[in-house]
Amino acid sequence: MELTFLGTSAGLPTKERNTQAIAFNCLPYENQIWLFDVGEATQHRILHTGVKLGKVSHIFITHLHGDHIFGLPGLLTSRSFQGGKDKPLTIIGPKGIAKFIQTALDISQSNLNYPITVNEFNTETELNIDGFHVQALPLKHGILSVGYRITAPDIEGKLEVDKLKRLGMEPGPKYQEVKANETFEYNNQTYQSKDFKGEKKKGKVITIFGDTMPCQNERILADQADVIVHETTYIEGEKHLANDYYHSHIEDVLNLMDEMNVKRGLFTHLSNRYELEDVQMIEEELKSKYKNDFYFVKDFDAFQI
Ligand SMILES: [Zn+2]
Ligand SMILES: [Zn+2]
Repeated sequence: MELTFLGTSAGLPTKERNTQAIAFNCLPYENQIWLFDVGEATQHRILHTGVKLGKVSHIFITHLHGDHIFGLPGLLTSRSFQGGKDKPLTIIGPKGIAKFIQTALDISQSNLNYPITVNEFNTETELNIDGFHVQALPLKHGILSVGYRITAPDIEGKLEVDKLKRLGMEPGPKYQEVKANETFEYNNQTYQSKDFKGEKKKGKVITIFGDTMPCQNERILADQADVIVHETTYIEGEKHLANDYYHSHIEDVLNLMDEMNVKRGLFTHLSNRYELEDVQMIEEELKSKYKNDFYFVKDFDAFQI
């Protein structure tokens, strides 16, 4: 799986950073891409990446602030002309997102040539999508903002061919049966498939947070995650300034990582006051103080998970 950051600025775009959007590539599980938030001009950013709009099957919106949704109408209409024809799209987001989309499309007399489903929720939601489990819980941002905890499907252990051969089973269609079922029969005997497979690997957990100040639900969403993507609007200075505006300070997020045993933090949504050079300096300073595995991401950064 891969996360590509298409916009990493908070509130306003800068010359270096666009407003919020992330592409999540579901391969090797599914050949599809999920977007998380669609800030203004996300489609322009996408043109510089390998992301194909026709492959975008789901769009998750964390909250309805403009820096997270103003790129949505343009991206939806372009999708009609960029490989999206007849390919269904599902949009998941807080209540109000359907009205926003419908109004923009109606007023501009835009027609989409593919079916669209908008899946709105009031406070929280839980979904199963092609074997992925997605849980959304409300955060604390003055407007409903959620974090999405994505659990990838477990990876089945490899078949232990030697053991099967010892039973007398030669490679063939029967092996598929062992792979796909809990039990299988051979020579009138029933066997447990797990006895002929290597150890199952737990699916990875990736949590993508909407804007928020510290709150209890963050802990639930971040618990033991392999990766969290979190806003760090303020990466230095007084902590209370961040929280006064319902945002997070870098110390809040590093504490969350420690407390909930998070393996890696990818930090985005940086205040437009910081230029890339400043961020680099601050990052070096923080890394000398904190042991956590974290990065301040830039536009177009991509991470394998
Ligand atoms: Zn924001
Ligand atoms: Zn916001």
